[in-house]
Amino acid sequence: MRPRIGISSCLLGEAVRYDGGHRHAAALAAALAQDFELVSLCPEREAGLGVPRPPVRLVQWDDAIHARGVSDPHLDVTDALRACAEAKRETIAGLAGFVFKARSPSCGVDSTPLVDARGRPLAPTSGLFVQWVRTRFPALPLAEDEALADATARADFMARVWAYYRGE
Ligand code: SF4
Repeated sequence: MRPRIGISSCLLGEAVRYDGGHRHAAALAAALAQDFELVSLCPEREAGLGVPRPPVRLVQWDDAIHARGVSDPHLDVTDALRACAEAKRETIAGLAGFVFKARSPSCGVDSTPLVDARGRPLAPTSGLFVQWVRTRFPALPLAEDEALADATARADFMARVWAYYRGE
């Protein structure tokens, strides 16, 4: 049996992005699939936000980070994304790693733009789903698609996945 790792669905070519598109990372997916079983997961689709859907961004708001509409500031999907994450707890528990799409308000790993309540940029953070995963599974190896374009970084991530899988 091979380790199972999660991967953002749009990286597998699934048309689940807010604009109905994808970000197929064919070479990366093929490389990972040589060692691992890939488990597709799109937090925004799982949260029932629809495809296409209004784009959201991360906003620091009342001492917390919210996912709010880019053009409709009254849209707040924070609770929907949080509920999706809780619903996926068992799935995540069965994974040995996760590859996320960079800069997404759900999937980015330390690369997601964050603004304050007046729209002024703050330091980048992680997407809300990734924040939840890190809190619940702090040792789970995580990486972004763009970092894994580098062969050395990809080999390092794959080694970390195997170590996690073996309980090392
Ligand atoms: S980045 Fe994440 S939330 Fe956005 S489309 Fe891809 S899988 Fe879905």
